Amino acid sequence: MILTVTMNPSIDMAYSIEDLKENTVNRVSEVRKTAGGKGLNVSRVIKMMGRRIVATGALGGNFGAFIEEQLDKEKINHAFIHIKQETRNSIAILHDGGKQTEILEAGPVLTAQDVFRFLENYKELLSEADVVTISGSLPQGIESDFYAKLSSLAKQKKIKVMLDSSGESLKQTLLNKDKPYLIKPNQEEISELLNIKLNGKENSEILIKYMSNKIFQDVAWIVVSLGAAGAIAKHNNSFYRVKIPKIHVENPVGSGDATLAGLAIAISEGKDDEETLKTAMTLGMLNTMEKQTGCVNKKLFSKYFGKISVTKLEVVNF
Ligand code: ATP
Repeated sequence: MILTVTMNPSIDMAYSIEDLKENTVNRVSEVRKTAGGKGLNVSRVIKMMGRRIVATGALGGNFGAFIEEQLDKEKINHAFIHIKQETRNSIAILHDGGKQTEILEAGPVLTAQDVFRFLENYKELLSEADVVTISGSLPQGIESDFYAKLSSLAKQKKIKVMLDSSGESLKQTLLNKDKPYLIKPNQEEISELLNIKLNGKENSEILIKYMSNKIFQDVAWIVVSLGAAGAIAKHNNSFYRVKIPKIHVENPVGSGDATLAGLAIAISEGKDDEETLKTAMTLGMLNTMEKQTGCVNKKLFSKYFGKISVTKLEVVNF
């Protein structure tokens, strides 16, 4: 099975307010509440594609219980540790013709005892996992090398780790002696990591140069997703440019998570590079076509899979 890790899940609340006003009362008639956090988006997409998945992380209080109920409704297996502090809410206000204003709580502060219980639980879950996905930010109370620790524990059991994180926790995991098997930075994340500026118009050659940076040494897969422009990827010494068709986008949020779900599915099933990249891009695209974040229509999979092109790039040594 695929094990997904979400250390700081949230109840994602979407408020639609056509005309948002400051310093007064805004009433909302339509509220959507979903079990959120990047790892839970990954989980939902894997489940929608009919694969075996167990979601883990830390949940607390009534909000944590709400998330578990939602996962039960969606028949997503879960094994979270329970913490004393309340799980957070993340609020997205959709207003004024397409604007999105977000209010994100930092979330609970995990204690040393919580971290210990999580690690014990994680080690047990690893015994049944083929691959592990780790997504999103760390909650307060956890050191930035925590994902590096999770990577090492998985690697000791020869389980592939796929990491979608940013900032210090991504850096620490890359500097760790046990490298993740795969990382999936978007342009912003790779810019931050390498301390460079990307304007979204870089050609493959420049991106290949960045992906060849020493910091990525021994990371088998690097998939840099480029939104509507598809992706550029590196698997060991092979580089690929992935092009996707133009589609109608309903809601692009969570496309990176759907992409990671596709990578986890394909890699856990031993697919070749071309099929792996096409699966990832198809799920990213299918997510943009749905209103709900982290949601895909499985029936459309073959149609869009067939429209993606993967080209192996000739690379002169950098
Ligand atoms: P998020 O942070 O919202 O989860 P991300 O920035 O990590 O997303 P993106 O690069 O935006 O990830 O998107 C991942 C993949 O989803 C893309 O490579 C592509 O396959 C698909 N995708 C995203 N946006 C679009 C779009 N506007 N049109 C078509 N496909 C898209």
